Order: sequence, then structure tokens, then C-alpha cells
Amino acid sequence: MKYQTKLLINNEWVNARSGKTFSVINPATELELAQVAEADAADVDVAVSGARRAFESGPWSRFSARERGRFLYRIADLLETHKSELAELETLNNGKPVSETLHADLPLSIETFRYYAGLADKIHGETLPVNGNYFNYTLREPTGVVAQIIPWNFPLLMAAWKLGPALAMGCTVVLKPAEQTPLSALRLGELLLEAGLPPGVVNILPGFGPTAGAALCKHMDVDKVAFTGSTEVGKRIMQMAAQSNLKRVSLELGGKAPNIVFADADLDAAVQGALKGIFFNQGEVCCAGSRLFLQEAIHDEFLDRLKTHAEKLVVGDPLDSRTQMGAQVSKEQFDKILGFIESGKREGATLVTGGAPAFSKGYFLKPTVFDSAKDDLTIYREEIFGPVVAATSFGSMEEIVPRANNTRYGLSAGVWTRDVKKVHQLARTIKAGTIWVNCYNCFDAASPFGGYKESGFGRELGQYAIELYSQVKSVWVSLD
Ligand code: NAP
Ligand code: MG
Repeated sequence: MKYQTKLLINNEWVNARSGKTFSVINPATELELAQVAEADAADVDVAVSGARRAFESGPWSRFSARERGRFLYRIADLLETHKSELAELETLNNGKPVSETLHADLPLSIETFRYYAGLADKIHGETLPVNGNYFNYTLREPTGVVAQIIPWNFPLLMAAWKLGPALAMGCTVVLKPAEQTPLSALRLGELLLEAGLPPGVVNILPGFGPTAGAALCKHMDVDKVAFTGSTEVGKRIMQMAAQSNLKRVSLELGGKAPNIVFADADLDAAVQGALKGIFFNQGEVCCAGSRLFLQEAIHDEFLDRLKTHAEKLVVGDPLDSRTQMGAQVSKEQFDKILGFIESGKREGATLVTGGAPAFSKGYFLKPTVFDSAKDDLTIYREEIFGPVVAATSFGSMEEIVPRANNTRYGLSAGVWTRDVKKVHQLARTIKAGTIWVNCYNCFDAASPFGGYKESGFGRELGQYAIELYSQVKSVWVSLD
């Protein structure tokens, strides 16, 4: 495979002003895939001024909403045409199994662009019944030049979630992919050009957070920053936005989701849901069901079944279509997860299965299950972002709600029960942006996603995401 490795600025592929490059690794082999241009503040300046020009006076600023929609449809079609190639590229760079990139990342990315293609010309203002002899109406206007900073766990999909609504709304964008996984975003850049992208509308700057990322967040001519990543960096981004030009901020941050199984649940389905909840994407998922609450009556049996299934998961070559769990994204992430596993053992949790690297080469881990009566150990509190689930037991409904909510995060939760009353009681009392009932990790471009508490704010996907890239203007016209 040949990779695009340059920066996309104003529709041109260019080297970084500094001439610097950085190494991008295949985490399954630990071998270098490419040297990629490393953007920093100087490149950010050029990209932002291009995005500003495109927003204020370029051809894009004269596109009708329907034309923007047609452009987004073309992107979706091109992604579809290049689906297998992109799935393979994502797998090579991220380490996730090709069965997932082909059947989850790619279809969801394509659907996201299609959804916003259709939505583009259905965004409108309102007329309002004000007092007095006035005609009052609102205009919904694009926010302007948007910085989008994304993580490495779903590189292409996160780009789609960010670009879809921003472009539907008519914003222009500077996108910074994660340092570990820039390749699919750069390939997407080539497809954007093929789809007829006007200059400056989407600029793609691989580089590092503290340099390129921070330059975007501090830039006086960026109107908004949309971020997905860790809560710690999210807080820093808000500070930078506040200290510069009060640019708008939306944050999709970490999680530590409770996945709650009642004794009356369909246990076969719940075991599958618990597996999918934590081992999908090697556990590198912000909404992973990483705290597994099992009602006392089924606790032992459930863990036995989970252990049996976890040990049968096929860990291995991400390019093999039979593989169910691939490699962690980087050595840093691999070491961090092993550190959490050590803390679990040290603090007295019972290791039910896994707890070690799967092979001697590549960043592969065994699916890992811990159990403990206490849910205040480090592995029950901190986001691990790996294939490690922390199980515990609970007695009653009254007990589970405060325990499930006893976290600084609030991104998602799973509930497994046949009792409709429990379903709706928990749907109301759990503080999280998404509640999955008798299912887990369901996504659709139409359904909003985002956090309560320190999991961030703002909702991506659906019509809600339009809020992130638009602002409302009130117009008063005297009729006297
Ligand atoms: P991260 O540092 O928050 O990275 C996310 C994005 O923010 C990357 O593009 C990153 O650039 C950028 N960034 C980092 N520091 C920045 C700064 N000072 N200013 C502006 N942008 C900055 O996440 P990470 O280091 O990759 O992973 C650490 C932990 O974050 C994980 O273990 C996991 O717990 C959590 N995480 C959450 C999500 C999620 O979906 N919510 C996704 C990934 C990770 P670089 O590429 O240079 O880091
Ligand atoms: Mg980082």
C-alpha cells in the first residue's frame, strides 16, 4: 500500500513548514508504516487563514445547502467505493480487526456522511410570535472556522462524526488526527479532493497535541473547537479556549460505563453483551462497559460463562477476517493497560482470566476479567481503555443506582433485565448520555451521543450535532 503522508492545506499536499516528520507504526507488527509530515503552529496559521478565506469569500461560502448535501453524498459514495481498501488501511494503522473496520467503522462512517448529506437542506430558522408590531425570525448560521481534534480509537469514524455536521452546516475545518493514526484521515483527504472539495474547506494536519493541537485551541481566528479524547486534555482545551478568544467548545471525553445485569435477564444475550461491551475494539472505546454489575443470584454462573467465552475469543492478526481482537494501538497504551492490570492484582481483585500479553510481538493483550466485592479499587474507578472488565455483585435496585452513578464519568450504561419497570426506572436515574437496554454499543447516525458529568458536553450525531456547528441570530423587522 502507498500512503498519503503530507499535510492537506488549501487543497494542496504539502510538507510541514519545519520539514519535520514523525513515525507511524503498525501496532500488530511494531514496524513503521510511514513517516508523516508533522504540522505545528506555523502550518496551523496557514491552514486557519485558508479556512477563513474559504468560509468568508471562497466558492464554498456560496454553495447552497443542497449543493453541500450533494458534496457530502459524493464523499459517502467514494468511501463506499473504497471500502475494503480503507478498512485495511485502518486496520494496519490502528491494530483493530478488519472484520470490525469492514463491518462497523466503514459502514458507520458512510452512513454518517449520508445522514448529514440529507440533513443539509433541512436546517432552518423559525418565526416567533413576539409582542408589538414586529416580524421576528431566527437565522441558523454556521459557526465559522472549526478546529476538530480527534483520537486514535476510531480514526475514520471520528473524522466522519466531526466533518459530516460541520460541512452540512457550511463551516470550514482544520482537522487534527491523532498522532498514532493519521493515515485514514489523509486518505479521506484525497477522496474529499476527488469529490470536488473547494480550496480551504477541509484542511488536515497530522501532528502532536501539545504543538499543532494547542496552536488550534489558542488560535484567535478559530471560532470553535470540537474535541474527542481524554478528560484531562478536554479540560486543557477549555482553558485554552477561554484564555484566547472564547471559541466555542464541545467535548466528548472518557467513560467508565456500568453494565448492569439483573438475575431476570436473558443471560445468553447478557453474556454476549458483556463481551461486546468490553472487548469490542480491544476495549479502546470511550463507552466500553468496563464496570460489570452482576446481581448476586447470577454472579458466579455469569462469570463462569464470561470466562469461557472470553478465553475463546480469537486474538491475533488484525488482517485475518477470523480475528475478533487485534492489537492495542500503541506501546504507550499497551504499557498503561498492563499497569492497570498490575494495580488490580496488587489491590486484591481476583483475576478471573487473562491479565497478560497474548504474544511476544505486537501490542496484543488477552481478554481480561477481574472480580471483586469492592468497587472502589483503581480498576473500578479509572478509565483503562483496554480489554479489561471489572466485575462485582449487587443486591437490589436501590443499591445499584448510587453505585452505578458513583463515577466522575457519564457517557453510557447498559441494563439487562426482562422487567420493563426496572428498565425505565434506570433509564431515568442513571446519569449518562446513552442507555442501552438488552443491547450494547448500538450506534446510528440519527441518534445523539455524548456525555454527562466529566464525559463532556455537546451531542454528536443526529440533528443535535447541528447545534455544535451553528449559532442562532434573531432578526427584528419593524412593521410600523
Ligand atoms: P488524548 O491525549 O486526549 O488525545 C486526543 C487528541 O487530543 C489527540 O489528537 C491528541 O494529540 C490531542 N491532544 C493531546 N494533547 C493536546 C493538547 N494539549 N492540546 C490540544 N490537543 C491535544 O488521548 P491519548 O493520549 O491518545 O489517550 C489517553 C487516554 O485518553 C486513553 O487512555 C483513554 O483513556 C482516553 N481516550 C479517550 C477517547 C475517547 O473516545 N473519549 C479516545 C482516545 C483516548 P496527540 O495525538 O498528539 O496525542
Ligand atoms: Mg496523547
